Amino acid sequence: MARSAPVVVVGAGAAGLSAAAELRRRRMPAVVLERAAIGSSWRARYDSLVLNTPRVTSTLGGYRMPRRYGRWPSRDAMVEYLEEYARRAELDVRCGVSVQRLDRRDGGWSVTTSQGVLHAPQAVVATGHDIHPVIPPWPGRDEFPGPLVHSAEYRNAQPFRGLDVLVVSASNSGSEIACELARDGAGRVWTARRSSPPIFPREWPRGFPVNPGACLLDLFPDRVADGVTRVAQRVMYGDLSRYGLPRPDVGAQTRAKHLRQGALVDAGFVKAVKAGRIQIVAALERFEGPEAILADGTRLRPDAVVAATGYVRDLEPLVGHLGVLDPNGHPTVTGGRAHPAAPGLYFNGFHGTISGQLRYMRKHGRAIARAIARERRAAGSGRNVAGGCE
Ligand SMILES: Cc1cc2nc3c(=O)[nH]c(=O)nc-3n(C[C@H](O)[C@H](O)[C@H](O)COP(=O)(O)OP(=O)(O)OC[C@H]3O[C@@H](n4cnc5c(N)ncnc54)[C@H](O)[C@@H]3O)c2cc1C
Repeated sequence: MARSAPVVVVGAGAAGLSAAAELRRRRMPAVVLERAAIGSSWRARYDSLVLNTPRVTSTLGGYRMPRRYGRWPSRDAMVEYLEEYARRAELDVRCGVSVQRLDRRDGGWSVTTSQGVLHAPQAVVATGHDIHPVIPPWPGRDEFPGPLVHSAEYRNAQPFRGLDVLVVSASNSGSEIACELARDGAGRVWTARRSSPPIFPREWPRGFPVNPGACLLDLFPDRVADGVTRVAQRVMYGDLSRYGLPRPDVGAQTRAKHLRQGALVDAGFVKAVKAGRIQIVAALERFEGPEAILADGTRLRPDAVVAATGYVRDLEPLVGHLGVLDPNGHPTVTGGRAHPAAPGLYFNGFHGTISGQLRYMRKHGRAIARAIARERRAAGSGRNVAGGCE
């Protein structure tokens, strides 16, 4: 296979576009295969979504987010930015092409797609964390008479006006949706939580984004960062246990890096809980007809349920047979490193961090392009650096 053939990048979200643009910047051809549209996961989010990381630290390499997006870019601004990013970098993005499987072939990669097979010397998988929405198989779920929707289907509070709503999980999306429901006319709003997440405001004290502090903590070992964030939360909020939000079970950095769960970024949630507009309740266990039965035995009668219960990333069909995933289906190496069993195959967008994934998509996009440039140079000179580290 010609070593100058285009690199195949799978996925036209921030991670895929970042890697492709960095490749272009180093004069390496890339083709981005996207099953839907550029930025499709952002398009599918709720109307009021804004980033929890500031514009400045969320921007990708080579083209900064415009100032007019404000400090916290909206969902629509993100879509516009990604489209403009692809346009300015003159990326070859092919929408409507679904990648089904990658196989090692002739020292490169054979990429099976919905429109045939492509061959590439290197490939970058950037299919995102949030592929398939998951609703747990709660016993009795099918007998619950009211609407039961995943947060991926939630757009705004309008259909829930006057309804008592149980929001399942105090995740970022769950807390933001609960806040919006409480503010925009739902009846009673409960948030069911299994664990106690670390909680941080976007800004603290008033007007100062906390994200730069999180970027700094990224440099420290988990134990130190966990300790600092625990103390910081206590200083910022005091003791929230009487509101149903005790000290976090797991430190913020350990949770982000190893469990791939973010902290709850508070955009009014804690205030609404303190004011009694949102009530924190125990985890949802099952349904009995119209009743939701919680882990502590409490019975609620919600009119509707919003399940902010996460997604699966579903990399198994694509690369599961290559031995590059851990038991949780997560790539064992990401960024500018390739697994020794899969030289020339890179992953972007799968790094767990408390400081914001977009920041790492920029850094890792660059690292991947550098690693591929090295591989190509080495192939040209007959050396073998596949699997080399960044
Ligand atoms: C609600 C929410 C808010 C977030 N806020 C922030 C924030 O404030 N700051 C931050 O840093 N991070 C944030 N994140 C995390 C992360 O930055 C975003 O999820 C980001 O969109 C991930 O980008 P990505 O490119 O990895 O994945 P995606 O944006 O999901 O892009 C992946 C693309 O791959 C395509 N694809 C998937 N499978 C295939 C296939 N087999 N073939 C072809 N195409 C495929 C998909 O259609 C999709 O377009 C947030 C996440 C969520 C869910």
